[in-house]
Amino acid sequence: MQIDIITLFPEMLESYFGQSILKRAQEAELIDIRLHQLRDHASGKHRITDEPPYGGGGGMVLKPEPLFAAVDSIVSGADGAPAPKIILLTPQGKPFTQTVATELSQSPHLIFVCGRYEGVDERVRQHLVTDEISLGDYVLTGGELGAMVIVDAVTRLLPGALGAEGAAETDSHATGLLEGPHYTRPATFQGHPVPEVLKSGHAANIERWHREQALRRTWQRRPDMLLTAELSEDDRRFLAVLALESADRLAKKTDS
Ligand code: SAM
Repeated sequence: MQIDIITLFPEMLESYFGQSILKRAQEAELIDIRLHQLRDHASGKHRITDEPPYGGGGGMVLKPEPLFAAVDSIVSGADGAPAPKIILLTPQGKPFTQTVATELSQSPHLIFVCGRYEGVDERVRQHLVTDEISLGDYVLTGGELGAMVIVDAVTRLLPGALGAEGAAETDSHATGLLEGPHYTRPATFQGHPVPEVLKSGHAANIERWHREQALRRTWQRRPDMLLTAELSEDDRRFLAVLALESADRLAKKTDS
């Protein structure tokens, strides 16, 4: 997958992309990350990339010409290649979720446009980008963190990216549930033991335990997710047990 990131601050991203799974994914040629300094695509002696907004108001706005020129330099010469997704990071975009990460992981080429200051000229939104994505309902200083978050989440989903470090398909949200707890050595820590089943070596029981813990955690923390998760008959029976447990606890609370 080719990943191009247009930013005024490429140095911010270099360090993150140079470590751990993202570094290895680049070495294995699963992803090819290219950072583009927006200023290099601005014209004139001073290479101006931002100007005050028409109509007044505070802050500065990223000019359209350098952003269009940067995207043009990336896509020109790529005749016949599948059209890239050109993603604007913006708090006004579609919220980023695991489902969006999965969709993006199918694309061979992603281009990220990182806004700054008051944001980008509206014509970038209207006539250049194909997608607008938000990290969440809060405002950041720039789009760089958004690009890093999305590249990270998408890379984890590429076959071979995680190696022995874990399986993306059992992560929280990948299954429509939150993932259950993990334990490692020691078997007892400060008097708290690891659940016996995990040491039993009984693969089917361990698998069922993981599933039930995922259901329990989702029930406790994100019951809304259970409305859309794919559930088996066993899962539904277990959720009925959890519902009875909750009703029981509530009744005891009311009595006392
Ligand atoms: N004035 C803009 C608004 O109210 O929509 C916010 C501009 S923000 C200070 C500067 C840049 O940070 C944005 O152009 C965008 O690229 C990025 N940004 C801020 N919050 C974001 C979020 N929640 N998700 C993705 N990008 C965000």
